[in-house]
Amino acid sequence: MTQAMFRNDAYAARCEATVLRVDGDRVVLDRTVFYPTGGGQPGDIGQLILDDGSAVAIVDTAWGEAGEILHRVDAGATLPAPGSAVEARIDWPRRYRLMRYHTALHLLCAVVPAPVTGGRMAEDKAHLDFDVDMSELDAATIERRLADLAAADLPVEVGAIAEAELDARPELVRTMSVQPPRGQGDVRTIRIADVDYQPCGGTHLRRTGEIGTPRVSRIRSEGRRNKRVTIVLDDMSS
Ligand SMILES: [Zn+2]
Repeated sequence: MTQAMFRNDAYAARCEATVLRVDGDRVVLDRTVFYPTGGGQPGDIGQLILDDGSAVAIVDTAWGEAGEILHRVDAGATLPAPGSAVEARIDWPRRYRLMRYHTALHLLCAVVPAPVTGGRMAEDKAHLDFDVDMSELDAATIERRLADLAAADLPVEVGAIAEAELDARPELVRTMSVQPPRGQGDVRTIRIADVDYQPCGGTHLRRTGEIGTPRVSRIRSEGRRNKRVTIVLDDMSS
């Protein structure tokens, strides 16, 4: 099992680690700052710095079996030896953009009072799909409410809920969490003041003020139960 440093500190851009094993083009570390693809958030990319100072590009990160996190190296790269020390460094500007989009989607989830049927984020845009009539979705209204919540600079807090309590409150599970990981007694939660509270395993900002100014770039029907609201953020330096 890999210790997932991003769970407690989403702002950690690097950490020292030991190579547990190498499986083909995938490297398993004892601990990592790399977020693996999940919950609509893409896996991190970045570098492993080996003890001789050379850098190995990591092109994707994914969950493996039994809580392992798999760092996929670029084709043809020199692989680190099991047992060796490395420094894991994520592409921080990219991750920070994903954190801004991820946190903005939590606000979008709160602003549109409808069931969420899907969602995804990238470095330059993000969307949620809602099971709602198109006439209920007004871009200007959504944009204004999002901007108000971002400007309010609300705190984003990580917590936990017991699985039994979550089972008793199924309304807490919206889509960004998809299927909260089970079997450890507690499920990680994200709370944004009194605006949004749901299970989520992703990486988030500390405060909504870091989101910047959200804009609704498109509202489009993607099917009877999928009305897609896409947002873009202003290009803040990160
Ligand atoms: Zn989240």
